[in-house]
Amino acid sequence: MAKLYFRHGTVGSAKTLNLLAVAHNYRQQGKEILLLKPEIDTRFGREQIKSRAGLEMTADLLIRPDTDLLSLDYEGVDCILVDEAQFLSASSIEQLREISVSRNIPVICYGLRTDFRSHLFEGSRRLMELADSIEEVKATCHFCTRKSIMNLKHVNGVATVDGPTIQVGAEETYLPSCYHCYQAHLAAVVQS
Ligand SMILES: [Zn+2]
Repeated sequence: MAKLYFRHGTVGSAKTLNLLAVAHNYRQQGKEILLLKPEIDTRFGREQIKSRAGLEMTADLLIRPDTDLLSLDYEGVDCILVDEAQFLSASSIEQLREISVSRNIPVICYGLRTDFRSHLFEGSRRLMELADSIEEVKATCHFCTRKSIMNLKHVNGVATVDGPTIQVGAEETYLPSCYHCYQAHLAAVVQS
C-alpha cells in the first residue's frame, strides 16, 4: 500500500518549487508522474504549475469537485503529485486516498494548511485526517525571524480578515506570518 502525503506550508514556503523538484527527479529516473491541481487556481494560467522562483510544468489534469478520480487510467504511473491541494473537496481527497491503496501509487499533496482567517481549508482538513505522512514546508515570518504559520492578507497594504476565503490570483497580497505578528497587524487595524 502506497502512502498519502500532505506537505503543508504558508505562502512563500516554496511548496510548488518542492513539488517541481520531486517531479523533475522522478522524470530523470525515467518514471511516470501525474501532475494534478484544482481547477480553481488560475493564478498563472489554468494548466500551469508554476513556482514563484520561475520554474513551471503543465498539469495533466485540472480537478473539479465533480471529477471522478477513481475512473482515470493510472497504468504506468509511479507517483501522483497535487499542487494547491487545499482547494480540493473532501471527496477528492478521499478518492486520492483510495487510489494510493487500491492502485498502490504514492500521492503527494502540497497546500496551505489554513486560510487568512486561520481556519483549515476543506482539502487540508481531510488531508490532516487521512494522510500517512504530514510534513511542514517551513518559511520565515515576513516581519520577524520566527517560523511562519499564518497567511496574513493585505488589501492595499492594510491587514484584513475580510473578503472571500478563496480568492485566487486577486490583487490582494498574502504574507507568511508568525502568530504574534499576525495578531499584532490585525489588532493595529482595529485600533486605527
Ligand atoms: Zn513574526
